[in-house]
Amino acid sequence: MPMADIKYIKGIGPAKSAMFNRLDIFTTSDLLHYYARTYQDRRPNKNLNDFKDAQSVCFKAQVLRTQVIPARTIGIFKAFVQDEKNNVFEATWFKRRARGYDVFAQIKKDFSIGSYVWLVAKREDKNSFLSNKIIVDEYYKPTDPELHLHADAIVPIYALTQGLTNKFFRQTMARALGTYLEEEKEILPPELLKKRQLLTIKQALKGVHFPSSIAELENARKRMVYEEFLLMSMAWAIKQKQEKIDEKQHRYELKKHLLTPFKENLPFTFTKAQTRVINEIFKDMLSPKPMTRLLQGDVGSGKTIVALSALLLATENNFQSAFMAPTEILATQHFITLKNQLKNLKVNVEILTSKTTKKNKDKILKDLQEGKIDILVGTHALIEDKVKFKNLRFIVIDEQHRFGVKQRAKLRSKARHIDMLSMTATPIPRTFALALYGDLSVSTIDEMPPNRKPVETLQLNQNAALELLKEEVKKDHQGYIVFPLIDESDKLELKAAKEEFEKLQLALPDIKFAMIHGQMGGQEKQKVMEDFLNKKSQVLVATPVIEVGIDVKNATIMIIQNAERFGLASLHQLRGRVGRGEAKSICVLVAGHTSTLAKERLDILCQTNDGFKIGQKDLALRGPGEILGTRQSGEIELKSADLIKDKDVLEEVVQDKEELFKQDPMLLKEEHQPFKKRLQELYQKYWSFIDLG
Ligand code: ADP
Ligand code: MG
Repeated sequence: MPMADIKYIKGIGPAKSAMFNRLDIFTTSDLLHYYARTYQDRRPNKNLNDFKDAQSVCFKAQVLRTQVIPARTIGIFKAFVQDEKNNVFEATWFKRRARGYDVFAQIKKDFSIGSYVWLVAKREDKNSFLSNKIIVDEYYKPTDPELHLHADAIVPIYALTQGLTNKFFRQTMARALGTYLEEEKEILPPELLKKRQLLTIKQALKGVHFPSSIAELENARKRMVYEEFLLMSMAWAIKQKQEKIDEKQHRYELKKHLLTPFKENLPFTFTKAQTRVINEIFKDMLSPKPMTRLLQGDVGSGKTIVALSALLLATENNFQSAFMAPTEILATQHFITLKNQLKNLKVNVEILTSKTTKKNKDKILKDLQEGKIDILVGTHALIEDKVKFKNLRFIVIDEQHRFGVKQRAKLRSKARHIDMLSMTATPIPRTFALALYGDLSVSTIDEMPPNRKPVETLQLNQNAALELLKEEVKKDHQGYIVFPLIDESDKLELKAAKEEFEKLQLALPDIKFAMIHGQMGGQEKQKVMEDFLNKKSQVLVATPVIEVGIDVKNATIMIIQNAERFGLASLHQLRGRVGRGEAKSICVLVAGHTSTLAKERLDILCQTNDGFKIGQKDLALRGPGEILGTRQSGEIELKSADLIKDKDVLEEVVQDKEELFKQDPMLLKEEHQPFKKRLQELYQKYWSFIDLG
């Protein structure tokens, strides 16, 4: 589709053009499909009290009087205005004075006594209803021909980049709609448009940017959401059809010369659930079709040992495997676990992360290509192009939601016909799985290993928390203290955590503390963890790097500092670091100043240990993007669709997709060509992991 460059829109020069490019907007069509982040209802139906939530309110007012207060450097302009309910407000503008001209000339003209203005404004002090001082974000004259783009209407608010204002963006959008809307082609199959009574693309684009009513906005959004879901699920349907044809060139056999001794050496027996999921996985691996299976099970349910069983099946057949985990510490932990469990077996396990030294790395890469390594554990480092296997056949991805779709796909693309097992503690609802992964097979561990006592969770202050820590250490137990570090590479935050660590040592000199954080070298981390495992240290002070995976049975207390700063899923993961042995464990949440939402999270955590319940709550509290690892990676093109809010649309789509796929599986019909073309474009841009042929 030939599309105009945005620089042809009036008002966009090279500088502005570059700013639009930063938002991934290159053509007029990109612009039209750049949807608002949110909307403000700026119709004049709000009253004064709406000022209370620090949000801007839009209203029409008459100018009563104005005042200029001269000063040497900063000049002040005040306007007293009256709304239609006769409330009087005082608005103030500050401007640096300029020599030779009056910086307030324009505003004085706009606020001439007796004239009307539309104000978008908020209270200066959001807590005081007595003060009538307001801050004006934007104002418009009733005579302004573009008034309804900005005021007296439902107004779109876009996520922008530096240098762009929403006002300018709205003007540009309106111009683009005026000139280029005609070029937008309908891509949805006509029979579906009709069946679901969807707006046409032209109607929807107008409605999604400048809706004249909430109903119009909803209909417009629904059409966009429908389109996104349909494209996504159709792409997966096609992919799966191809996969069904695809057969593995290699076959597995259950030889058991590794699996049997491994099972006999385990210090426990598998739970029923573990046995069931191992069978499901083995069945897939032994079959001619490549496996795509998600293993879900709550924190601590014993997924690692299940993965290890599958890894051994690959090793028994002389196939190589990769085991990828999202953090250095988790990878190290898995490496140690594997080494321990496979002590007496002839299996060569190695670890590769970004912290592996050059010398070691070179050796590992060489051995890998020569087939000397059976299982390679590691982080994102595994997906680098340099990492080449001799006969990779099986991959395990732990905490799969921590990886982007592309990263997972890239690891998988290292060989043909790979079997893939993804693992997660965060369950994915069935409809999501269908839309986001096609028809993913799911195995669920719905049973905890025996003799686990639920972790007791408390909210306490710092001193009470440390008292509990002392008690646990007295019982010869170990513990963790976790500090929130939003960004592991943030030096200031790390420094603060280190200072806290030193303070702790001073305050509790009898306890042997050790510290671990993301900036430490790989071997250094491994040493700290091994020391902790061997009880050389008693309390591990950590940044959230330990969130996933750490497994030390003797640790019975987890203290989470500034717990209000963690998300629900993270808190549950952190808590899962304790309660792994037979002794009763405690998790202490030490919170600073909490918002209502944070309080709700902490309360939920105190009430339940059930990861599935927590997962559901988490979805409800903050939407699925982060949980599913889609939004933040931006790799799945869902611009307006929200898996939770738009569940009903998703269900319609799943149904319609099936029909469409039945009637025209390869999209050959004339009326489906625009849809197919759009699929191919998306495929090139975002979905290259889906092989559309
Ligand atoms: P997660 O599912 O969170 O990854 P892990 O695989 O780390 O859980 O397992 C948690 C702990 O439970 C580990 O210490 C593991 O050795 C132990 N474990 C796993 N399976 C069993 C079992 N069947 N009986 C007893 N302990 C088990
Ligand atoms: Mg795990």
